[in-house]
Amino acid sequence: MSKENIAGKKIATKMIHAGAEPDPSTGAIMTPIFQTSTYVQSAPGKHQGYEYARSQNPTRAALENALATIENGKFGLAFSSGVAATDAVIKLLSPGDEVIAANDMYGGTYRLFTKVFERFGIHFKYVDTTNPENVSNAITPKSKLIWIETPTNPLMNITDIASVAAISKKAGTILCVDNTFASPYLQNPLDLGADIVMHSSTKYLGGHSDVIQGALIMNDVNLKDQLYFIQKSCGAVPGPFDCFLVLRGIKTLHVRMKAHCENGIIIANYLRNHPKVERVYWCGFEDHHNYEIAKKQMRGFGGMLSFTLKDASVEAATKVLSSTKLFSLAESLGGVESLINHPASMTHASIPREERLKNGLTDGLIRLSIGIEDADDLVEDLKQAIG
Ligand SMILES: *Cc1c(COP(=O)(O)O)cnc(C)c1O
Repeated sequence: MSKENIAGKKIATKMIHAGAEPDPSTGAIMTPIFQTSTYVQSAPGKHQGYEYARSQNPTRAALENALATIENGKFGLAFSSGVAATDAVIKLLSPGDEVIAANDMYGGTYRLFTKVFERFGIHFKYVDTTNPENVSNAITPKSKLIWIETPTNPLMNITDIASVAAISKKAGTILCVDNTFASPYLQNPLDLGADIVMHSSTKYLGGHSDVIQGALIMNDVNLKDQLYFIQKSCGAVPGPFDCFLVLRGIKTLHVRMKAHCENGIIIANYLRNHPKVERVYWCGFEDHHNYEIAKKQMRGFGGMLSFTLKDASVEAATKVLSSTKLFSLAESLGGVESLINHPASMTHASIPREERLKNGLTDGLIRLSIGIEDADDLVEDLKQAIG
């Protein structure tokens, strides 16, 4: 269905029909995997809109349209990974520019900022964005970009997107929101005033732990032109088969997310009432410090949570991490199967220990990506693992 026709439809309809148009050459209902590097021209410069596959590919174009539709944006761009999408956003900047970034975010984002882009003369200031005042206090005339993640990985902190967007507008900066944890089913940052939405499509968009990919979605045509120029000039594009997989994943995003949310509620409450559990980090608890904002800007609380044991030792956490049978010990998240992870040694090992501890990411923290298996079986698995 064309982007114009689908824009006013309800969410489930959008997920299924976004980007999907019958293939003009055959009528194939599913966008084919255009496994080609180049396109034949009938005369020099005379072509059908496709010249070379780093610049354009029909499978990728279908996915990029789908991404725009499901995030309520005008334009979508797909990248070879989530960090490649982040990398493209930072390449909008020049040496001397400053970024205000959240102090609690995906370890790979922090690594890219500090270990790669600092060397190119871009400066990063890390602040606790859960209080938007910290963002406005950090802004200087050199600030060009604000980078937030909400809910955060792995502490499930919530930042008020609309408030930070208002601050960003006033300062004339670009606000980019990493929306990976919520997915477009639960949260649409562009509707709240953000300029760019970033996704690791590897997670909920793909949904089946079988692809690495990233995405950017935006409304402003100038931003789109600049980011498209970076996408084609730097070349971090996804292959057509990977685009096909994410397109296919998006068709069931709403069904999967509903199930992730239902299981999330059950597991969060089970863990909270467990005598050996010290604290559960989940933004769906009414006493979560930013619950009201989460409720306002999200349609549900998703399938991600973290917890600590009363025995805060690494040994106690390791025992749980090694004992689950349904929850597989692995990095990543957002797939249909449940995963368990130790941020301090796995996903967030690239953040120095002192930095991690300052932000509350302790050595004993355990993160769960709750899949869509039967909740009874998941509870049973945690029960035997925690003991
Ligand atoms: C995984 C992840 C990324 C990085 O994406 P890749 O696809 O692994 O490159 C960025 N942000 C968040 C929140 C993530 O979970």
